[in-house]
Amino acid sequence: MSDYIENNEIDNKKDSDSKDDGYEDICYICRRSESTAGKMVHLPNNICVCADCMQRTFDTMNNGNVDYESIMKHMPYMPNISMINLSDLNNMNQNVKPNSQKIKKKKPKEKAKPVLDIKSIPAPHKIKASLDEYVVGQEQAKKVISVAVYNHYKRVATDTMDEIEIEKSNMLMIGPTGSGKTFLVKTLARLLDVPLAITDATSLTEAGYIGDDIESVVSKLLAAADNDVERAERGIIFIDEIDKIAKKKNTNQRDVSGESVQQGMLKLLEGSEVEVPVGANSKNAMVPLTTVNTKNILFICGGAFPELEGIIKERLNKSASIGFKADLKDKYDNDPNLLSQVTVEDIRKFGMIPEFLGRLPIVFTLDALTKDMLVKVLSEPKNAILKQYQKLLELDEVKLNFDEDALEAIAEKALEKKTGARALRAIIEEFMLDIMYEIPKDDDIGAVTITRAYIEHIGAPRIEMRSTEKLKANQAVVQKAES
Ligand code: ADP
Repeated sequence: MSDYIENNEIDNKKDSDSKDDGYEDICYICRRSESTAGKMVHLPNNICVCADCMQRTFDTMNNGNVDYESIMKHMPYMPNISMINLSDLNNMNQNVKPNSQKIKKKKPKEKAKPVLDIKSIPAPHKIKASLDEYVVGQEQAKKVISVAVYNHYKRVATDTMDEIEIEKSNMLMIGPTGSGKTFLVKTLARLLDVPLAITDATSLTEAGYIGDDIESVVSKLLAAADNDVERAERGIIFIDEIDKIAKKKNTNQRDVSGESVQQGMLKLLEGSEVEVPVGANSKNAMVPLTTVNTKNILFICGGAFPELEGIIKERLNKSASIGFKADLKDKYDNDPNLLSQVTVEDIRKFGMIPEFLGRLPIVFTLDALTKDMLVKVLSEPKNAILKQYQKLLELDEVKLNFDEDALEAIAEKALEKKTGARALRAIIEEFMLDIMYEIPKDDDIGAVTITRAYIEHIGAPRIEMRSTEKLKANQAVVQKAES
C-alpha cells in the first residue's frame, strides 16, 4: 500500500509541478489546503489526504479494538467529522470533476514591514508615540502598556531563562465601557504585527460544560496566526469582561463559569503546553492536533469592574475615619480618579482569586472619556471616524467640514449615553446617513459644513455650491489680473 502511494505521489508531484494553474489540493478529510497541511498523498479519483490524516487513519486501523460500525452509525450526528471508507474509493464514479478536490490558491500576501518590530523591539517611548497616533488620552495606561510590552518582547527575543527568570508581563486592565480597552490592544497588536485573539470571558466555562472551554482561546490565536504555531506563540490574547468570572457570592452550586474558569486559566497564564486542534475549534477524532506553548503569549485581561469603586471608597473611608486623618465620609463620592487608586486587595475583594491576580502582575486603569477627549476621538486619531467620512466624500469631490461646536454637540450627546466613545459612531451614522444620501444627487454641491443646529435637529447643514466656488475662484483670478 505504501509503495503504491509513494509511486502515485511521485507521479502526481510531477503533474502538479509541471502545471501551476493557481489551484492547490485540499485534504479530503480535514479540508485543509496543501499550503497549510503540507504535501498531500494522492489517491485514485483525484482524492488527496494530508499526511496527518493519513497517519491518523492508519493509527485507527492498526488499533484493533475499533468498532467501525458504531462509528459510522454515529457519524452523521458528529460535527466536523468525516471518514473515508477506503473500499469505496475504488468504486467511485470516474466522472469526478478534475478540480472538485482543489481550491483556489491564496495569493501570497505582500509582507508589509511592521511599524514596531518585535525582533528588535523599540524603546517604550517609541511604542507609546506610535500608540499616541491612534489612542486619545489614557496617558498612564499607554505608558504602562508600552513598558510591559517592551519587557515582554525583550524577554521573548533574548529567551534568557537562566538563574534570573524574568516574570511574564501579563496585564489586567480596568476601565469603564467604551474607554478604549479593546481598541488599545487591537492597535498594539497591529503595530507589532503579532496575531491577536479576543475572547469574552463570559463565554468560557470549565471543560466539559456547555460553552467554550478555556483552551479554546489558544486555538483562536492559532487561527489568527494562520495556523503558524511559531507566530501564535508570540501573539497576544485579550480576554474581555474578565470581571464577569468573579467568584460568585453566597452560592452553594458548582461555579462552572466563575471561579473554576479562573482556576482553569492559571496554567495558561503562567505558561504551559496546550494541545489544540488545527483548522477547527473543537477537538475530535479526525482533526489533527498541535502543541502550543503559552510561555511567550502575552495575556491581557480587561473589564469594567462596575462595583469596584464602592470597594475602593469603603477602604479609603475606613482608613480616613481613624485618628488624625479623620475626614468627611462623602469625600470620595465624586472623585473621578477613584478607580486609579485600586489595589490588588480591592480586586480580590471583588471576587478574583489571589492565584489568578498573582499571574497578572501589571494592573492599570483607564479613565472614563471626558467631553474634550470625545471631541479629540472624533477628529484626531490617524483613522478618526470624521476623517473616514471626509475621505469618502472627497472621492465625490465634496469637501466635508465640521464646526467646532458641532463636534462639542456630538460629544455632549455621546456623554448622555454613558457608553464612552462607543456612542459616537452611532450618533454620527444617524446624521451622516442623510448627508451621504442627498449629496451625490446634486453634482453641483462642492462643500458641506455640519453645524451644531444640524446635530440638534433644529437646522440644516451649510451647503456651498460648486458654481459659487468656481465663481469665487474666477473672481479671485480676475482681481489678481486687474491688480
Ligand atoms: P472598551 O473599553 O469597552 O473595550 P472599545 O475599545 O471597544 O471600548 O472602544 C470602542 C470604540 O471607541 C473603539 O473602536 C475606538 O474607535 C473608540 N475609542 C475608545 N476609546 C478611545 C481612545 N482613547 N482613543 C481613540 N478612540 C477610542
